[in-house]
Amino acid sequence: MSALSKTPRRMRGWMDLKVVAIKQETPDCITASLQSPESQDCPFDYIPGQYLTFRFDNLADKPVVRSYTMSSSPRNSESVEVTVKQIPDGLVSGYFCHQLKEGDCLRARGPIGRFVWDHSKDHPTLVMVAAGSGVTPFLSIVREYIDGTQQVPQQMALLVSFRTRQDIIDAEELLRWAEHERFELCIQLTREQCSEHGYGRIDGAVLDTFLSKYTCGPATYMTCGPEALMTSVVDYLQQAQVNPEDIKQEAF
Ligand SMILES: Cc1cc2nc3c(=O)[nH]c(=O)nc-3n(C[C@H](O)[C@H](O)[C@H](O)COP(=O)(O)OP(=O)(O)OC[C@H]3O[C@@H](n4cnc5c(N)ncnc54)[C@H](O)[C@@H]3O)c2cc1C
Repeated sequence: MSALSKTPRRMRGWMDLKVVAIKQETPDCITASLQSPESQDCPFDYIPGQYLTFRFDNLADKPVVRSYTMSSSPRNSESVEVTVKQIPDGLVSGYFCHQLKEGDCLRARGPIGRFVWDHSKDHPTLVMVAAGSGVTPFLSIVREYIDGTQQVPQQMALLVSFRTRQDIIDAEELLRWAEHERFELCIQLTREQCSEHGYGRIDGAVLDTFLSKYTCGPATYMTCGPEALMTSVVDYLQQAQVNPEDIKQEAF
């Protein structure tokens, strides 16, 4: 059975989600934990990599909608989490990062999205490349699969860039996962040099160092972040003769 077809609990239409906790991840990024006000849990099933669409009726003259990917693992049935990074002058990301408070209710629809690792079609090796908030689907994926049961990627690798060490989203958990033998982590910092992480944008040389060991065998590739990053990842993989069906992209 396809992973996308085995989601028994789905919500129809808009639902209310109550904010039960807010965690400051970095100076400009928060994680909001959300629950159904009625059942006090996550009221739907989702696959790591899927997202919710939120609707705000009072932030502007007209209702505005924005999508945010779940960063939590579906195994956490108590709540669902979204991790939102403030975009300069961004209307909704600014609201999430500066005005949202515990007890607030948000209107949301979903889950939706096909940016997932599907055990019926995808390879046991999963390679992920992200920049900044593009890491959120991969936080959900690694959280869900790192403990490893049968139908999960057997090997996972994540190449991700942030500006500085203090901009690393979920740094503690990422670095803990990196000790796992089934997970390779490479962090690039674009505005800070330090001994633990690479320095500079994810360019052709960084991609070559990180990806070349995977492109010689079968693997599924997922990339999320700015268009320029995804284009360079896809160009690299195409030159390495990777089957286009093994490459998935999600633009934020
Ligand atoms: C499927 C999907 C999943 C997403 N998941 C997440 C997530 O998990 N976490 C997260 O933080 N964001 C995520 N996003 C992005 C999010 O939906 C919003 O686009 C983002 O928060 C900006 O909205 P805003 O209202 O704050 O900015 P706006 O008020 O819409 O825009 C403000 C300014 O910023 C520019 N801008 C808009 N978006 C971006 C961007 N992404 N990067 C740089 N400049 C931008 C606009 O051109 C404009 O000039 C996702 C987007 C999609 C499509």
